[in-house]
Amino acid sequence: MIEPLLCELSVPGRRGFRFPDPDVPLAELPAEFTRQDLPLPELSEVDVVRHFTRLSQLNYSIDTGFYPLGSCTMKYNPRINEETARLPGFAHIHPLQPEETVQGALLLMYELQELLKEIGGFAGVTLQPAAGAHGELTGVLIIRAYHHSRGDTKRTKILIPDSAHGTNPATSAMSGMQVVTLPSDARGNVDLQALQAECDDTLAGLMLTNPNTLGLFDEHLQEVIDCVHSAGGLVYGDGANMNALLGIARPGDLGFDILHYNLHKTFSTPHGGGGPGSGPVGVAAHLVDFLPGPIAAIVAEAEDEMPPLYGLVMPERSIGRVKSFHGHFGMFVRAYTYIRMHGSEGLRKVSEHAVLNANYLMKRLKDTYHLPYDRTCMHEFVLEGRFPDAPDIHALDIAKRLMDYNFHPPTNYFPLIVHEALMIEPTESESKQTLDAFVDALLRIAEEARTNPELLKAAPHNTPFGRLDEVKAAKELVLCCGVDASYAVSDRQTA
Ligand SMILES: *Cc1c(COP(=O)(O)O)cnc(C)c1O
Repeated sequence: MIEPLLCELSVPGRRGFRFPDPDVPLAELPAEFTRQDLPLPELSEVDVVRHFTRLSQLNYSIDTGFYPLGSCTMKYNPRINEETARLPGFAHIHPLQPEETVQGALLLMYELQELLKEIGGFAGVTLQPAAGAHGELTGVLIIRAYHHSRGDTKRTKILIPDSAHGTNPATSAMSGMQVVTLPSDARGNVDLQALQAECDDTLAGLMLTNPNTLGLFDEHLQEVIDCVHSAGGLVYGDGANMNALLGIARPGDLGFDILHYNLHKTFSTPHGGGGPGSGPVGVAAHLVDFLPGPIAAIVAEAEDEMPPLYGLVMPERSIGRVKSFHGHFGMFVRAYTYIRMHGSEGLRKVSEHAVLNANYLMKRLKDTYHLPYDRTCMHEFVLEGRFPDAPDIHALDIAKRLMDYNFHPPTNYFPLIVHEALMIEPTESESKQTLDAFVDALLRIAEEARTNPELLKAAPHNTPFGRLDEVKAAKELVLCCGVDASYAVSDRQTA
C-alpha cells in the first residue's frame, strides 16, 4: 500500500499540462527571467491526482473521524462555510482593488467585527492577526503601547500561570516583556497569594486562559482581575477556549481588557495541517485607539436610499499593521457564515453541548483514568495516562494505541502540570455514539495495559506507518521522495 511513496515518480518527458496555442505573436523571454535547470518533477495528470489523493488518505482528519485534541477545538467544519467562501464575489477579489468595488467584502468584515464585539463584550475588534499566537503578540504590543502612552515605561512584567499554553510566554517574550510564571493552586486556579506578591508598579499585565488548559473556570476570576487592575496592569484573555463560553459569559463583561478569538477553533474555520488561521483581537474602550489596522468601518452613513459606504481606517494611535493586506479574508467569510447560521441561540447551544460532552466523557472515564483536578469541567478535561499497576505504560503508548481504534489521540504531555497528561476536548459536534465508542476504546486500552502491555508499547499497528521517532521526524522532515526509515522505532514501516 505504501510502496508508491517510496519511489521517485518523475519520468523525463512526461507532461500533465499543455499550453493553448498562442493567439498573440511569439516573443523571446529575456534571458534573465528564464532558467533551464528548474528541478520540477515530470508527471502526467493522473500521476499527480493519484499522488495527492494517496497522501490525503494517509492523513487523519476531522472529516474522517473523532479528533479529541485538547485545546485545539477540532470541531466539524460545516460545508456551507466552504460554499460561501467560494462565492465568486468573495473568492475572486483582489486586496488592492478600489474600496468602492469591494463593498460587500468590507461589509462582511465590518459585520464580523461587530459580531465578535458582541460575543466577547468588547468595544473594538481587529481582524488582522493570522492566528491565536499572533493575536497574543498583538495584544501584548497593545498593552505596551497603552502604558507607554501614559509615560509609564517601567511596566515590563507579564504574569502567566503555569497552566498556560506555550504560546503565552513565547509571545510575551517576543514583545520584549519579562515573563513571570504564576503557580496554580490545588484546585487548578491561579494561586492568589503568588499573584498578589507580583502585583506591583512594574506589572504590565496578566495573560490568562479562562477556562484554563485544565478545562477549569477559575473560581476566583474576579479577584484575579481586580488584583491586576488595582496594581495598574491590564488583563489579556487567551480566547482559544471561547468554545465553553459562547452566549454564556462575555470576557469583556468579566473585566478582561483584551482577548483574541481563534476563528479556526471556536468558529469552525479549518485548521490542522498548517492551514491559514485567524486570530482577531477584541479590546475594551480604553484600548480601541491602539488596535492594529486597517479596520473595516462605515466611512459615509446611509443617505437618500443609498447604502452606507464602507472603507478601511487606521485607529488614531494604532500600533501599526501586524499583517499584510487585511488578514485571512477567506476565514472571515467562513466564520461569519458559521455565526450567522447559528444565531445567538445556536451559539449558546454550541457551548452548552461542548461542555456537556466533555463532562460526559470525564464522568465515564474518571474511575479508570486518574483525574487530578476533579471538578466540573468546561469544554475539556485532563486525565493522567498512567496506571500504578502497569508502570511501563505511558500517556504516549495510550495515545498511539488509540490510533488502532481509529481515533485521533488526545493532546498529550500538556498541560505540563499534569503527569502523563491526556487532554481531551470532544467539542459539541460529536454524537453520543461516537463519544461512547471513544470511551469503550479507552477502557479497553486500560485493560490491555495490564494484560498485554507490549501491544501498547509497539502501537500503532493498523496505521500506514508504525511508531516513529517523532522528534527526529519533525527535526529532519523528509517530504519529497520516500520515507527515511531511520525515523522508525520498530521496523514494520520499512516493509
Ligand atoms: C491554540 C491555542 C493557542 C494558539 O493559537 P494558534 O492559533 O495555534 O496560534 C493559544 N492558547 C491556547 C489555549 C490554545 O488552545
